[in-house]
Amino acid sequence: MKLAPLALAALLAASSLSATTLPPPVDVGAAADMALDSDTIAWDFVEGITTEVGPRQAGTEAEKRGRDWAVAWLKRTGFANVADEPYQMPTWVPGEVHKAEILSPFPQPLVIQPLGGSASTGPDGITAEVVEFETVDALRAAPAGSLAGKIAYVSHSMTPTQDGSQYGFAGAARWVAAGIAASKGAVATVIKSVGTDYHRNPHTGGTSFPEGVAPTPAGALSLPDAANLERMFDRANGEPIRMKLTLTPRDLGTTTSGNVVGEIVGRDPSLPPVLVACHIDSWWNGTGAFDDGAGCGIVAAAAKHVATVGQPLRTIRVLMAGAEETGLWGSRAYSAAHIDEPIAVGLESDFGADRVWQFESNFREANPDLHARVASAVARFGVSNGTGIASGGADINIARDQKTAIIDLSQDGTRYFDLHHTPDDTLDKIDPEQLRQNVAVWTQVVGILANEPEPILPR
Ligand code: ZN
Ligand code: ZN
Repeated sequence: MKLAPLALAALLAASSLSATTLPPPVDVGAAADMALDSDTIAWDFVEGITTEVGPRQAGTEAEKRGRDWAVAWLKRTGFANVADEPYQMPTWVPGEVHKAEILSPFPQPLVIQPLGGSASTGPDGITAEVVEFETVDALRAAPAGSLAGKIAYVSHSMTPTQDGSQYGFAGAARWVAAGIAASKGAVATVIKSVGTDYHRNPHTGGTSFPEGVAPTPAGALSLPDAANLERMFDRANGEPIRMKLTLTPRDLGTTTSGNVVGEIVGRDPSLPPVLVACHIDSWWNGTGAFDDGAGCGIVAAAAKHVATVGQPLRTIRVLMAGAEETGLWGSRAYSAAHIDEPIAVGLESDFGADRVWQFESNFREANPDLHARVASAVARFGVSNGTGIASGGADINIARDQKTAIIDLSQDGTRYFDLHHTPDDTLDKIDPEQLRQNVAVWTQVVGILANEPEPILPR
């Protein structure tokens, strides 16, 4: 049941209980309904940052412009204690030349982009025979040294899913294949993009090389170009496929990045705050609308909407983390800097802008009453009560490090990997109605948490 603020105030006045033991006189549901009908704050953020800043590669001058823009936006939007908290990080940039060309037996160019952490081929490129692996496991099974002087090509299978779980299955092709191939002597690795679209857009993203294995050039082919290469293997009758690969990324050494923070200050500063997070950086090839301009817009809008129905009991702190994409540098720096300042609960939005369909917490058993209250409050937005244990997103390392409460609000990921880390990650892909549903759900959840007097995760 929802009560209008006046009716609730009358009820409170009539009660014999002291004011401090009563629930706070705020109608969070009304704020969430308002957000569903008419939120403009989230859209304003994501339209603004994608238009006025655009791509925001971690650690670069472009990310700095993004942080400056976010600081100004947070101040203008009425947040307190706005700051850009600096930290140092190693910075990788993609460079200018991204080319793959089949020299024989079927000469033609293929569309490729480097993976984050890729080494450079040098401006003259490298030419080598390509060896095909259908899966990362097949690559793992290749004998030591068998790829000496070769370019490894690694495929995989990935289908769209609501929960995005196929990313965990297919993602290894991007995360570890280049390192495995390099350890077996490969001079470079080319993968089928980890994505589900049919555009000629490669999906970038970070890759990694194990300790003691020197990074090699590594790139992702668009899905149609990967399919073309696979047909070449079928039609080559065993004749070697030779590729010229030119990728010119650079390491810039150590640069300064930062975490942008801002607060809706609560009535009781002695209570640990609610931390809502997203990341401000994006890859260079898109404008970072889905990943993760939308997330920053959603969490900041929710904090503002909660405050429209009364100052919350707890402070709501917005963390727009820097440098998520290239290795969670911002998330780790934030945790290191604030580890001694307890937070009540952490939540992150970093999975696009499509509707929230599931709520999970890590306190279903430790605080069943609060879990049930949140679950029942978001049901009217079509959000189910999931059965898993929330583990939180990349930008809330501090919640995991402090072993505190975590909530996951899962977004529909059916089309997320059509856009993820591609030039297609642009504002026009965001559906304003689904964006408002996100803000409404977040307003409801953050509003309950920020007005909860008891510990979210009792010790
Ligand atoms: Zn992201
Ligand atoms: Zn990303």
